[in-house]
Amino acid sequence: MIPFQPMAHFGIMCTIMDSECELSDAAGRQRPLPYHQGVSFPPAYIQASTHVLETALRSVAAYASWRPHDPGPACDIDTRYAALPSLTKKDIRAHFPAGLLLPGKDLEKGLASGAIWFVETSGTTADQVTNIWCQEWWDASERASWGLNSEISRIATGGHPEAILVSPLNVGIVGRNGLLPMHERIADQYLFLNEVMYPSEWTDALLDRMVSELNSFQPVVLEGNPSLLAILARHIVRRGARVHPPGAIVLTYEFPSRIHVRQIRMAFPGVPLASSYGSTEAGYVFMECEHGRLHQNAEYCRVDFQPFKEEHGGPAVGRVLLTVLNHPWCSLVRFDVGDLARLDARGACPCGRGGGMVLEGIEGRAVNVTLAPDGRALTQARVDDALAAVDVIDEYRLEQRAGAEYELMFAAGADAPRDVEGAAAAVLHALYGPDARIAVRRVGQVPPEASGKYRLARAAFPVTPGYLLDARYALL
Ligand SMILES: [Zn+2]
Repeated sequence: MIPFQPMAHFGIMCTIMDSECELSDAAGRQRPLPYHQGVSFPPAYIQASTHVLETALRSVAAYASWRPHDPGPACDIDTRYAALPSLTKKDIRAHFPAGLLLPGKDLEKGLASGAIWFVETSGTTADQVTNIWCQEWWDASERASWGLNSEISRIATGGHPEAILVSPLNVGIVGRNGLLPMHERIADQYLFLNEVMYPSEWTDALLDRMVSELNSFQPVVLEGNPSLLAILARHIVRRGARVHPPGAIVLTYEFPSRIHVRQIRMAFPGVPLASSYGSTEAGYVFMECEHGRLHQNAEYCRVDFQPFKEEHGGPAVGRVLLTVLNHPWCSLVRFDVGDLARLDARGACPCGRGGGMVLEGIEGRAVNVTLAPDGRALTQARVDDALAAVDVIDEYRLEQRAGAEYELMFAAGADAPRDVEGAAAAVLHALYGPDARIAVRRVGQVPPEASGKYRLARAAFPVTPGYLLDARYALL
């Protein structure tokens, strides 16, 4: 096992080798340090990271205020990145579009030629961002991510037929005046299986249509939100339907609940499943390999990891900041996408891949962290691990109303045993402690958020980064 190594351990060596690297700022305060997992990166990654950072600080308006934080080229590149603030969605809104453009790029020409266009992300008003979209870079980032999973790199050609099950609020086509025929939901090699905005409006007939379209379209890859694929999967199992097995299923767009993954595996036995983690802003960032670990797509994305304090699950758990590499148009540096990750501490992956960060998993969104009555932070993944032990739960959402008040809403199949409520309360008490007051409510269906995505847990109050993050590694 490779221990997690904060760079601080190398501080003395750093001083001997290069007396110019100043780890304190002008006011004499200690700069935040980089946190390393102990993996090595190829020279091209270091070069691309350096080029992106220096260009951003020198020539991109969004980062002008960051210059005083940069300890300068005498420090190694990870130390320079670690000393900087993060880029928020609010910053992107404030500087869009010209303040995020690389020097020498002509926005009007790019838009006119079709090399770039603007895309809006979904979500609440606070989450919504318009981004500069470059399809060429996005496709290259996706292709590179396939190389991180042997099964997908074997079957994906770029032109392979792919069925997609997502919320049309996020991707695809909305059927505003009812259902759309199949040919109107096909674009290039993609078939969008769903045009209905809310899964509460999905009928058995619509789910039967999805099964029949999978059988006729025969996708090589089936991709979608795990929560939506799970609804289809439960329908397939309930109906005993015969369905064409795709070459692989890719889970994306939201945190994959273990409950949903289990249901998808039941409906598609033997089909390889892989989680792909990315964002509209930063492309394809991590891909799950055939051994279940998430490898960084290091050719297209730099990831900086800021660990939580020990009492909140650090240093293995922390937030990820994303920097796009090799992007022809945009400068996106240390973007706080709002997601949390768990570093993999099991040493080299049996798949043999190196040259990037390795995760055990994504822990969910920072806004979905809840607190135990004793103040410990619990990520969505911890809540999910606990509730996955109650194997008859189909869907759930946990809300922390106030200090020690929690409410679990869950749905379970008609044949579920009677005291699911008691079993769910017991696993949550084990997680949150004896002082937690947990109300459990069984419902017919757990609705998704207005964004179209499922939220498995949330607190009714904000949990700030300053509360969670270890101040040695983050500028707070
Ligand atoms: Zn691996």
